[in-house]
Amino acid sequence: MRSVSATAPRTPSLLLEEGRRATGPIATVATIAPIDKTYSYLIPDHLADRVHPGQRVRIPIGPRATLQPAFCVAVTDGPWDSTLREIESVLDDRPLLNAKLLELGLWIARYYASPIGHTLQAMLPAGVRRQAGTRAVRFARLTSADSTQLSPKHAAALLALKAAGGQLPLDQLRKTAACGPAVLRSLAALGRITIEIRHEVVAPIATQAEQFEPNYEIDADQQNAINRLLAALNANEFRVEVLFGVTGSGKTECYIRAIRSAIAAGRQAILLVPEIALTTQTVQRLSRRFSRVAVLHSGLTDTQRSRLWPVIAAGQIDLVIGTRSAIFAPCPKLGIIVCDEEHEPSYKNMASPRYHTRDVAIKRAQLESIPVVLGSATPSLETWQNAHKQRHYELIRLPRRVKGLAMPRVHLVDMREEHRARKGVHLLSRAMEVHLQTILRKGEQAVLLLNRRGFASFLFCPVCNTPIVCPNCSVHMVFHSTTGFAHCHYCHERIVVPTRCAMAGCGGHLVRFGIGTQRVEAELAEKFPQARVARLDSDAMKKPEDYARVLNQFESRDTDVLVGTQMVAKGLDFPFVSFVGIVTADTALSLPDFRAAERTFQLVLQVSGRSGRSEIGGDVLVQTFASDLAVIRRAVKGDYEGFAAAELASRKKAKMPPAARLVRFVLSDPRLSKLEKAAADFAVALAESLAKFGVPADIIPPEPCAIPRLRNQYRYDILIRFATAKQMLAGMDALRGAGAIKSRARTMIVDVDPVSLQ
Ligand code: ADP
Ligand code: ZN
Repeated sequence: MRSVSATAPRTPSLLLEEGRRATGPIATVATIAPIDKTYSYLIPDHLADRVHPGQRVRIPIGPRATLQPAFCVAVTDGPWDSTLREIESVLDDRPLLNAKLLELGLWIARYYASPIGHTLQAMLPAGVRRQAGTRAVRFARLTSADSTQLSPKHAAALLALKAAGGQLPLDQLRKTAACGPAVLRSLAALGRITIEIRHEVVAPIATQAEQFEPNYEIDADQQNAINRLLAALNANEFRVEVLFGVTGSGKTECYIRAIRSAIAAGRQAILLVPEIALTTQTVQRLSRRFSRVAVLHSGLTDTQRSRLWPVIAAGQIDLVIGTRSAIFAPCPKLGIIVCDEEHEPSYKNMASPRYHTRDVAIKRAQLESIPVVLGSATPSLETWQNAHKQRHYELIRLPRRVKGLAMPRVHLVDMREEHRARKGVHLLSRAMEVHLQTILRKGEQAVLLLNRRGFASFLFCPVCNTPIVCPNCSVHMVFHSTTGFAHCHYCHERIVVPTRCAMAGCGGHLVRFGIGTQRVEAELAEKFPQARVARLDSDAMKKPEDYARVLNQFESRDTDVLVGTQMVAKGLDFPFVSFVGIVTADTALSLPDFRAAERTFQLVLQVSGRSGRSEIGGDVLVQTFASDLAVIRRAVKGDYEGFAAAELASRKKAKMPPAARLVRFVLSDPRLSKLEKAAADFAVALAESLAKFGVPADIIPPEPCAIPRLRNQYRYDILIRFATAKQMLAGMDALRGAGAIKSRARTMIVDVDPVSLQ
């Protein structure tokens, strides 16, 4: 019989036939502290059937046995070893992560080089970890039905518990056995029962939007795509279906059909959307096509989120829609994952663990043996290459818009010529003015894109050419007419704009130079005073409701022109938008990043796709100073495949992803000289370890980052380039095993497969 009191001396319980070694249950645990290791702990008898992988426990750590939370990642029967410490207690009644999610978490920790406990913690909403939205219930559990030497009252209580299957909430047991709390306390003291605290979910919430079913017919291309998705579902195996469909080709409808089929088979689905689409039409429309759907948007409180978790885990939600973290939704029988706009950089988590949601989705699909759908009009080059090379991938094309609608007509305006031909500074070219005039006259609508917020990009002195730079960061400050201050878009510092240059002996009059969304808004007001204009950027949008309000006004045609940053480029589907103007296609091109051309191409195509989504047709005007660049020309033609082929060739030549794999380290420190030394030492340590383990790799020597100083920290970049994913994994394992990923700089970021080098 097992001892039940935590204070009883431990005996190796699985002892011992003569001559055989004793074994006992051992838990492998990972603490939540950023420590890159796991530890073994004994599971004491009284916790024997209560410690499971995916649960949190409390363990004594260090010479003073300080108690700390940790995730149990495995339970094994190991040799009983008296030097092992025991788990002190169990923190969760049931695993917070099921077996598949735990496995996924271990993969993320390895692939993205992040500490295991910290990674598992990051997969759970904060409210779930705190068990918000739950109620603590005290439970009695039978540990021994031995009623000898018990009073009749005590024996009756024990019998009642046994009759109820061995466990009952405490107050219920008191009612059933008609006894007081003292009886139960003494039964616990005698080791006949244990009293445990469990957390029960309070009033699960059901989300139920009003249903809406459109009455259009699926077209032939869509039907073909749907058939292929259904075939993938029925195959019951891991597949990656790349749905490459032009804007307005009806990709969403294909997702819906595939998801419904999975649900009909008794399974669940996850649909991932990029950050920006959070409150957009896509999500609203989608959620109205399903009855048991949960939308995990950023407006939810911790408690709301944590209440959804057990409901999802119980299989009571068919479809989970959300951004990055929705990929960790605990669906018990996941049948399909859809990653919409898979090329979006916002799928990359920008804090540790720096996972890419699309790639985690692919891994999860592999673990669950299910299909994952990657949808885009402009697939990332990584996905495009995989679709042609990898065995598990299938490429499905939707080359036409629905309802036989034409793609918009795209025109190019060479802004160098425009400036030569015209006096003064005009952000809107003459051709742009003509188009705007026309749509206003016809009562149609326009979207204008500018990839920059604010009124003027920066302020500078024309005499000595000195710009105003943030006091904490090495970036130009941006003037905002709404506040009258110069703002830093990185650290949010704002300063009063000086009128004269501060350089000693200069004193020139500062001028504002550059363009931003507010400046476009002002020019529109001057040139088209009758137009009703709204602005959509992160300065105008403080709350998710602001975004919805502006879009609703645009949808009901209370505004004529929508001016905005990338926010206007994605997912919007308004039938009366017959004109899209790209004020400058060049801002993304000047990024110090090997993906600059790809980002420019994506942006032009995505925003063009907002035009002409109904019978009235549509035009797009692209203003550029780089009209001779191939990427701009291909974007104007909508030639994704030509662009992808050319860009892949140039990446191959430059040995950049997807032709290679990168790991980026960003070291930062407030002291530059210390940082320089730390970065140099670190690069040497990396090179030595990789050489020792025989993993081939290039180390690109330390260099100041594109933004060399941020929030008072100097920053240095070190890149390792591996030829293949396999070598990268081997290299990173080796570096971590050797303890080489440590630097004396104050902080270090490890970014595997970075999406941006800024
Ligand atoms: P995409 O995501 O490919 O840009 P959407 O899925 O948003 O395209 O579809 C564009 C629009 O066409 C939506 O308003 C959608 O309701 C509509 N639509 C989808 N399929 C059809 C169809 N077969 N016939 C008519 N309209 C459709
Ligand atoms: Zn700053």
